[in-house]
Amino acid sequence: MQTYMPIGYKMVDGKIQIDKEKSKTVKRIFSEYLKGKSLLAIAKELSQKEVTNANNKINWTHCAIGRILENTKYMGDEAYPELIDKVTFDNVQTKRNQKKNQLWRKANRKKGKCLFANKIYCGECGEPYRKYTEHSGKACEKNRWKCKKYIFKNRVLCRNLFYTDEELRKVFISTANKLIKNQRLLDKPYKKEPPKISKELLEIENQITRLEEDEEFSSQELANLIFKRAELTYSTSQIDGYEVQTQKVKEMLVGQDLLTEFDEDLFKGIIDKIIIYQDGKVETQFINGLKISEILEYKRKDEKNGCSEKDSGNHTAANEI
Ligand SMILES: [Zn+2]
Repeated sequence: MQTYMPIGYKMVDGKIQIDKEKSKTVKRIFSEYLKGKSLLAIAKELSQKEVTNANNKINWTHCAIGRILENTKYMGDEAYPELIDKVTFDNVQTKRNQKKNQLWRKANRKKGKCLFANKIYCGECGEPYRKYTEHSGKACEKNRWKCKKYIFKNRVLCRNLFYTDEELRKVFISTANKLIKNQRLLDKPYKKEPPKISKELLEIENQITRLEEDEEFSSQELANLIFKRAELTYSTSQIDGYEVQTQKVKEMLVGQDLLTEFDEDLFKGIIDKIIIYQDGKVETQFINGLKISEILEYKRKDEKNGCSEKDSGNHTAANEI
């Protein structure tokens, strides 16, 4: 029975009462938490000091501390006398929510890092971009995306430009907005190609049928045609793939307002890769192969006093497509 009663209470003559000794532990947990200790730190400390829990064991976990901190019975109800006043209890809940939000934001920042990984490529040497978090150089060079070959065998090999997360996000916002404003861009490419190929394919089908009907066909000729048919079917299916991908992009953009801030889901849904060029051109390739370029204000990464931050956020759009 005692197991189900929260620590700090005891049963006396069929009534729940405060357990003087153990209620000190509960109060201590609430006050330590408000002082800024983590659940784990509190659990470790209680174990070290051999404080016993509800089951009279010295076995504290951060989960157990968490359960105590959120148990509303401590504020008192019909069955339980008040052990923790409402203000203290509420303060603890507020603090826990703040911490949860912090953790969530931290996790999201990590997600942001993974978001661009393997999506950014160097247009000069074809290598993927990497986020360099540590560099012995100037502070402004930290946390920038640089070509994987920027430093190769301790030498600067690729001199392509660096970008921050923020700059890459802005590129996406600007590029996505171009497409949102002008969704006809998605209809352009596949209008020309497929009819021609279907026609060619149809012709080959006819030839194959004719040859098969003709009893004296050359098997070599038939084999060639069948091979050609396979080739055409393959490229047609690639175009189907294109259409499927284009359809996906279109679906993602249905009812989409112009972006004012970075939209991670949209980025994941419609972007294949971003290619960086040394002249400041940044080319965004969508999952269906459509490319839209931006020219970012040209900047040299290796300039002597190139630490100025004026470069960030000064995008000039490329000529309208
Ligand atoms: Zn490179």
